[in-house]
Amino acid sequence: MNRIGHLGFSLFLFSPFLVLFSAKDVVSAVIFSLLPDIDLILKIKHRIYTHNFAFAFALFFTFFILLGDIKMSFFIFLGIISHILADLLTKTPFAPFYPISGKKFALKLFRSDNKIVNYSLLLLGTISFAYFYGIKI
Ligand SMILES: [Zn+2]
Repeated sequence: MNRIGHLGFSLFLFSPFLVLFSAKDVVSAVIFSLLPDIDLILKIKHRIYTHNFAFAFALFFTFFILLGDIKMSFFIFLGIISHILADLLTKTPFAPFYPISGKKFALKLFRSDNKIVNYSLLLLGTISFAYFYGIKI
């Protein structure tokens, strides 16, 4: 899934949280849903070191130590998890349990660069966010 798709997927997933949590919390999860693909920028192996639950836990603890805010750290954790879930829908297998297990998974529903899927998710996520943010106001 590309950035557009991850934004849409996480917006769709986390918008209902606006009923109970602040927009800052929800937007943190949405922004951090983009972080795992930093491996592409850093030019390290794609979907290995930043696309697993251990990375999500490591970031949770790092941000908890840095910010001292367990709720914000948890939303950051959720953002990373949503990225992993969204990438699991695509055709390319990867190991979400790395480094504990190297077993690779993929639901192979579509290619990660599928424009129809990515833009549909962005539209769906935007509508969902507007709806729940509207309820909040
Ligand atoms: Zn990814």
